[in-house]
Amino acid sequence: MEILASYLAGAWHPGTGPATSLMNPTTDEPVATVHGHGLDLGGALAFARDRGGAALGALTFAERGERLAAMAKAMHGAREELIALAVANGGNTRGDAKFDLDGASGTLAHYAELAKGLGDRRVLIDGDAIQLGRTARLSGQHAWVPRPGVAVFVNAFNFPAWGLGEKLACAFLAGMPVLCKPATATALVTYRVVKLWADAGLLPEGTLQLLCGPAGDLLDHLGPFDVLAFTGSSGTARTLRSHPRVVGESVRVNIEADSLNAAVLAPDVDLGSETGRLFLADVVRDMTQKTGQKCTAIRRVLVPADRRADVIDGLRERLATIAIGDPSRDDVRMGPLATKAQQRDIEAGIARLAAATDEGYGGTGAIAPLGVAPGVGCFVGPVVRTTADAAGCAVMHDHEVFGPVVTVAAYDGDAGAAARLVARGHGSLATSCYSDDKDWLARFVPAAGAVSGRVYIGSEKMASLSPGPGTALPQLQHGGPGRAGDGAELGGLRGLALYQQRVALQGDATILKGLA
Ligand code: NAP
Repeated sequence: MEILASYLAGAWHPGTGPATSLMNPTTDEPVATVHGHGLDLGGALAFARDRGGAALGALTFAERGERLAAMAKAMHGAREELIALAVANGGNTRGDAKFDLDGASGTLAHYAELAKGLGDRRVLIDGDAIQLGRTARLSGQHAWVPRPGVAVFVNAFNFPAWGLGEKLACAFLAGMPVLCKPATATALVTYRVVKLWADAGLLPEGTLQLLCGPAGDLLDHLGPFDVLAFTGSSGTARTLRSHPRVVGESVRVNIEADSLNAAVLAPDVDLGSETGRLFLADVVRDMTQKTGQKCTAIRRVLVPADRRADVIDGLRERLATIAIGDPSRDDVRMGPLATKAQQRDIEAGIARLAAATDEGYGGTGAIAPLGVAPGVGCFVGPVVRTTADAAGCAVMHDHEVFGPVVTVAAYDGDAGAAARLVARGHGSLATSCYSDDKDWLARFVPAAGAVSGRVYIGSEKMASLSPGPGTALPQLQHGGPGRAGDGAELGGLRGLALYQQRVALQGDATILKGLA
């Protein structure tokens, strides 16, 4: 059985103490173990600040980009091995595994390209020089420089590769060393990716460290120039945000938490049109891809009252064709949830929704998975709940069921009313709307945008080009207000800001120009 060691201070440490097993959620068999105690985490953070910060500081943006490109290439080269690990440890279908792995390598490659454009510089200039005195001699200039700390990533279980890649691309290019703690349950893929890079000599000393297992006393060692970048549930986010060391040292924190993302069908859309088919396909994809375990997945489906029955029929027809079972089989399109704890959470969430809504499809989610013995694995089938009263159904706006579950709810077709329902989620990562009516969109988009990190506008002309609302693209900001954590990641070079310090420079114009 593979023991997941932690990569700290330039060496692999197996840890001590009781073992935690990582399981295969299809077979309930262990695939690896981790011993997450006896590790010098304060020493690891100091190592990152001293060695890693210096190593990255010695590189120009272009040179950091070359390393990101090499990391992406190495991942791509090991793609088949990594897919097999994601199937075994995450319950991913091959398609799910590629989504995670290619999301990671694609994001690293995107930032490698951006780095080329930044060239031989180490400082980013923010805006133009500003004349401060009576003459142009006294000048001001904003600039971004790397923070002299360490970026600590605490990641969620659902994207063991992409979760690392999206944060690492920005921190590394910004010039900040990283210590990554993946979620324990699915850490096997993250472990193998970091090992691959370390073995290939792609990681200058101290620039990327890995902690497998629990966080232990990691946060007790954070300092004022460090960054804590968290992805996970809003409950854990609250614990981390209020950690005494985080508060006491004013540690910069970025939170990517949960979200009750809404998909809104506008009244102009016929379900048989391009836009209507896109809407149904997006809902089904978000329910079944990664077994619904995506932070951006659609949870609330808001439809005009007179379309509710047709929408449920359309979903039912499509969901009935999805083969669910052992994700290593070619004919299976949806695998198990990642863990038994997830399965229990989802079943409890379905029961809560069921108490306040009507059945649309899938009952309680109980299924007989293909190629799996009865009672084995962490399987829950797709479930559609429905209500005629979107405004009166509090649970659908409050309770994130992090699996293949949606609630289809009726609204009156008004754009303002739809946006007010979207806001009932208390802040979302990704809101999607489907319309070809420019007036309806002009009323809906700004209002929904005010409570969402991203608004995806599904329409006839983009339907065949769309990756769906649930894909976090490196070009666009990822993160949302309120419940979603109020964080921001990615968005091209905007994503570097989390790991840099903006400094206002004030002085002789010629000297500032030279520094810039
Ligand atoms: P989680 O239970 O909150 O765990 C997330 C991470 O926090 C794991 O690495 C976990 O480590 C760690 N952790 C838990 N308690 C901790 C503590 N007291 N101190 C330090 N670290 C601690 O979330 P999850 O179940 O992995 O992920 C599912 C949730 O993440 C969903 O709610 C989903 O919406 C959200 N999510 C959000 C985004 C986004 O971008 N906004 C992306 C993906 C997922 P252990 O595994 O070792 O316990």
